[in-house]
Amino acid sequence: MTLITTPYWWEGGSPLPTFSTRPPAKVELAVIGGGFTGMSAGLTAAQKGAQVALFDSGIPGQGASTRNGGMIGAPHRPGFVTELKTYGEELAHALTREGIEGYEFTKSLYTAGDIDAGFQQTGRIQLANTKPHFENMKMRAKLLNSVQQQGIQVIERDAIPQHINSDIYFGGLFYPDHGGLHPRMAHDGLMGKAMSAGVAVHANCPVTNLEKNADGFLLTTPLGKTQAIRLVMATNGYTTPSPTRWLARRIFRIPSFLIATEELPREVIDRVAPGRHMMVESRARHSYFRPSADGKRILFGGRAALVPIDEELAAKRLHETVISIWPEAVSWKISHCWRGFTGFTFAMIPHVGEHEGMHFAMGYCGNGVALSPWLGRKAALRALGDAEGETAYAQTRLEARPYHIGGNPWFMGIASPWWRFIVDTMDRRQAARDRREI
Ligand SMILES: Cc1cc2nc3c(=O)[nH]c(=O)nc-3n(C[C@H](O)[C@H](O)[C@H](O)COP(=O)(O)OP(=O)(O)OC[C@H]3O[C@@H](n4cnc5c(N)ncnc54)[C@H](O)[C@@H]3O)c2cc1C
Repeated sequence: MTLITTPYWWEGGSPLPTFSTRPPAKVELAVIGGGFTGMSAGLTAAQKGAQVALFDSGIPGQGASTRNGGMIGAPHRPGFVTELKTYGEELAHALTREGIEGYEFTKSLYTAGDIDAGFQQTGRIQLANTKPHFENMKMRAKLLNSVQQQGIQVIERDAIPQHINSDIYFGGLFYPDHGGLHPRMAHDGLMGKAMSAGVAVHANCPVTNLEKNADGFLLTTPLGKTQAIRLVMATNGYTTPSPTRWLARRIFRIPSFLIATEELPREVIDRVAPGRHMMVESRARHSYFRPSADGKRILFGGRAALVPIDEELAAKRLHETVISIWPEAVSWKISHCWRGFTGFTFAMIPHVGEHEGMHFAMGYCGNGVALSPWLGRKAALRALGDAEGETAYAQTRLEARPYHIGGNPWFMGIASPWWRFIVDTMDRRQAARDRREI
């Protein structure tokens, strides 16, 4: 079977709309980046009556927004306990509350009836690969349920087979209100809604230079120049030093890889994943997996490396991890392997901000399906000077590091082999210790 290296999600689907051609000479709001963040920013501003032009380097959605795992729910990467330590009680609570609010906003966007995003409220199970991981999870569930009434359920080891048929886990947490969607359908639906609201979408139109002037920003593209009064940057993991080194120094990209199995018999999926949930592991390799939206395949994602590697190698590494969970997967064929870039802040939490008049929302750290439409909306409202744009995510840290000059994060190339060796060794040793104690 030849490995297909474009996203499984790109197969089929509705034809692309007709995009705008020459960029306008003048516009009220320019949005750079046509993923979930940019489309939501454009839609919000157009609904508020602004004239909006959106620019994307390629086909809008070609970034992470149509490449992701489609898992949708509220938590941030650092977790509530770290946020408490970093930001103090008030802001940590505000971030958690707004995370839930953002998820509810995005869920209603995709379930109101005018966008078919293939959303299913499947629940998400977070699986503990080691005993200490499970102890930490239990503490976290207790804290979150007491302060935020999140309804998180602790799943003891003996109840795991009801959710996933694997004997490698020591327990888990179940988030019943999380779900899964079809990323391309979600993105294209959002894009259709933004275009119907009046957003002019310019595809294959990279913004190569930004010049601040008395009237706002002068954008340069290969197809012409546009003078915009206001600007929202929505480039996340695809942010490059041109047109803005300031942002590129504060956001770094990490690739995430996904594989899709060939279609499997229904009884196989029923046997290996009886809960049909979204599933994530606690191992540092960040594995996340799910049945496909049509329930016929297993999609499996993770950090096959911290730098872009060949899809064949990534597929092999991810398949090995699948086999470690379900030994029978050794006979499954892998039909697709693709990658996309996630955008990270050094503080590991998204940020909505403004720098010399340039507004932006990004840094979802691999967890942006729920938050990107919400924070894109916030960025647009802030650019328009609307008080509804207030957000706790404007108070998170956005730092540069002297060793990151923007663009390719060379430090990840050095870290990648060590990271794989260290996390694999730590995970193996801990699992062996835990097994001896059972
Ligand atoms: C493989 C993978 C799996 C993931 N799985 C999940 C998941 O299951 N759940 C979850 O919550 N999150 C997941 N994520 C993260 C999630 O997909 C992102 O956080 C989200 O899509 C970010 O959307 P965005 O619009 O901000 O950025 P993107 O969708 O990446 O869009 C950025 C756009 O900016 C454009 N651009 C960049 N520079 C310029 C320029 N100079 N001019 C014009 N255009 C420009 C790019 O072409 C691109 O289209 C995953 C990410 C990846 C890569």
